[in-house]
Amino acid sequence: MIDLSPSEEQLEFQRLARKFAREVIRPAEIELDKMTDAEEVFKSDIFWNTMRQAYELGFHKMSIREDFGGLELDPLTTALVWEELAVGGIGITASLLAAPVAPRFLSVLAAEKTELIDRFVKPFCADTKAKYISAWGSSEGNIGSDGSNYYDPKVHHETTAKKDGGEWVIQGAKSSFASNGGIANFFLVFACVEPELGIRGSGVFLVPYGQGVERGKPLDKLGMRALNQADVFFDGLRIPEDYMIFPPGENYPMMHNAIKTVGNIEVGYLAVGLMRAAYEEALDYAKERIQWGKPIVEHQAIGFKLFSAYQAIEASRGLLWKASWTLANKFLGDLKLSAAARVFATNMAMKHTVEMVQVLGGYGISKEYTLEKYMRDAKLLQIMDATNEIMTIKGIALM
Ligand SMILES: Cc1cc2nc3c(=O)[nH]c(=O)nc-3n(C[C@H](O)[C@H](O)[C@H](O)COP(=O)(O)OP(=O)(O)OC[C@H]3O[C@@H](n4cnc5c(N)ncnc54)[C@H](O)[C@@H]3O)c2cc1C
Repeated sequence: MIDLSPSEEQLEFQRLARKFAREVIRPAEIELDKMTDAEEVFKSDIFWNTMRQAYELGFHKMSIREDFGGLELDPLTTALVWEELAVGGIGITASLLAAPVAPRFLSVLAAEKTELIDRFVKPFCADTKAKYISAWGSSEGNIGSDGSNYYDPKVHHETTAKKDGGEWVIQGAKSSFASNGGIANFFLVFACVEPELGIRGSGVFLVPYGQGVERGKPLDKLGMRALNQADVFFDGLRIPEDYMIFPPGENYPMMHNAIKTVGNIEVGYLAVGLMRAAYEEALDYAKERIQWGKPIVEHQAIGFKLFSAYQAIEASRGLLWKASWTLANKFLGDLKLSAAARVFATNMAMKHTVEMVQVLGGYGISKEYTLEKYMRDAKLLQIMDATNEIMTIKGIALM
């Protein structure tokens, strides 16, 4: 038999995340979502106080090695935490997921670069004020899904990295989708070194915010409005030679797919948390709202919708737990399984957040309730970290 019971330590992290999500993230997200000016969101005390409290509790460093200052939690423990945080709101939670992208990459793929670990990873882990936030940029104006188009030599990043003496000179721009792009102070930048290799000719560079880097205005968008997304521009930026932390070449698809294997699972937990938030709110409403002489949950048409959402939550979580377990127990995890879990969970989140609006009838579209926000938030999950179409194509190739 497979044991699905969490340990006492896992339950403790889950309780901590649940309390923080309900008491801090949810009220913050609702307020931030109402701000019509995207710039106001990331100037607001609400956003920064929430991030600071999350850092104080250590949610930003859960997956980083203990000897570098992280909590080194296994993928099944972080699974429980990400789902709970996402119940509070997936904008802030996505920002917390993206914040450690550079330190995580460094501590897994460039752990031998002790100077970079001391300069970027350890201070990030010690941070309790959300001063250190990272972002990663692969997507560009002309490189979206092409980020996974590994074998067409005509397709390469337009951001370039050229050697000049003992330094790299970075020139170009990353698209307005970069998560945390407008608030990060260090970046993982995918930049083309050998164009004849196509996208495999890109290396991955660690770029501190400073001279030669400009952060764009936050993207004004449909949902997940508490997640900062912005362009990042590089103009003659110079970084030391050893800030290239992954070289171009044949290992590029392995590295990129490893990021997708992890990232897709995390997007999946955002979807489960979001579905739970919508389901729980709609169920409470359906038990209270009386029409045609009884609570609407007792009308089968409504009961079916709610039970169907419940099934989707349980099925998505089950698939994701298997993907997380595989990641914890098998080198590089299983991309096909991660993709299946993410595509399924995010499609379910889109479908059922729409259905939960319907459960509330006219009140579902009113901003008096949060159902319409959940529906808007869900759409972004089908696109982030590669679209569901691209993840399906990757899955098919592995069948
Ligand atoms: C919330 C969110 C967060 C993000 N965060 C980041 C980040 O931190 N860093 C970063 O670099 N990027 C980030 N992105 C960008 C994201 O990775 C891209 O939006 C995504 O890869 C799609 O690229 P595109 O938007 O240019 O769409 P396109 O690639 O132009 O695709 C348009 C449509 O065509 C479809 N399509 C394209 N090629 C194919 C094909 N071969 N077969 C079938 N269908 C195809 C796509 O599925 C899509 O429906 C984020 C996006 C979102 C929504």
